[in-house]
Amino acid sequence: KLNQDYKTAADFFQAHDDLLLLVHEKPDGDALGSVLAAAHLLQKLGKTVTLVNDDPIPDKFMFLPLADRFQLPEQVAGKFDRVISFDCGDRKRLGRSASLIAESAHLLNVDHHVTNDKFGTENLVDLEAAATCQIVFKIAYQLQMEIDLDTATCLYTGLMTDTGGFRYSNTSEEVLLIAANLLTKGVSPYKIVDRVMETISWPQLLLIRAALDTLGRDDSGQIAWVTITRQMVDTAGGCDEDVEGLVNYPRNVEGVEVGISFRESSPGRIKVSFRSKYVVDVGAIALEFGGGGHARAAGCTLEGELSAVQEKVLARVGEAVRSNTAHLEEKE
Ligand code: 5GP
Ligand code: MN
Ligand code: MN
Repeated sequence: KLNQDYKTAADFFQAHDDLLLLVHEKPDGDALGSVLAAAHLLQKLGKTVTLVNDDPIPDKFMFLPLADRFQLPEQVAGKFDRVISFDCGDRKRLGRSASLIAESAHLLNVDHHVTNDKFGTENLVDLEAAATCQIVFKIAYQLQMEIDLDTATCLYTGLMTDTGGFRYSNTSEEVLLIAANLLTKGVSPYKIVDRVMETISWPQLLLIRAALDTLGRDDSGQIAWVTITRQMVDTAGGCDEDVEGLVNYPRNVEGVEVGISFRESSPGRIKVSFRSKYVVDVGAIALEFGGGGHARAAGCTLEGELSAVQEKVLARVGEAVRSNTAHLEEKE
């Protein structure tokens, strides 16, 4: 299923040179996998690419070929007329890096978030894709380009992380067919899953212990959450990326529909992560709070005291859970 937007994106890859490639801040496996796979494809087409992100690349992703080529926006002079953004739903999530986009730039927006606001001059937003890596694979197909091992490694990493290791509800037949195709290029799935998903640092384990001590659950048993304070991260000796994945503990509890993590990212700023199981559209809730994401995984950042933010968010999620349950009962 390659629609006109894939054609447009493939043309963009072929038509332009000296490209700035961007992804969302605090990049994850899909953001890095998709942009680095695209960088490989573009280099094969003879193009010059510049890779920029606001944040340092997490150590666990440094094995991805070309990951060492990322620069901070401050290290790059001038502005770019040709830009491609990957795995990013709105311009705000590009952070400071957006300052490198020239006023009149052609910007291709390649993404799969429902909350994508089509901020590009050209947009390939495929809501059926489980990962942006899936979209980049299909762009390569549209371009009739061979996928080499380096490109395949990047694509496999993002497909794997955005499907939670091929476990979430977005794990489709197409995802597994693409994954299988990438294995034929020489990808070693065990090595990648071990590096990216199984291995945790000691501070990360200490942080899990501390976070589990804060577990909360509402009266209905359908909402559960964890709280991570600055002090907990400091005491564990960890960093922000160690917090990733903690939200799955409350989410996975039997009977829970929505799992939430509340993390104090700096004094007075609370990063909220949402995960739902079957019915609640947490992407819509995150959007109401100024964030975004997918129906089953989303996030936002709120200003205020931890307890006040918790109260506000839990009230809103409680409402969503009740109305969805009522809706289900009506149907029966
Ligand atoms: P996480 O909770 O792991 O940070 O993010 C889950 C999903 O929600 C990801 O797909 C991510 O792109 C999206 N997301 C998380 N935080 C934000 C945010 O502040 N704004 C937007 N637009 N999306 C977010
Ligand atoms: Mn992402
Ligand atoms: Mn993604």
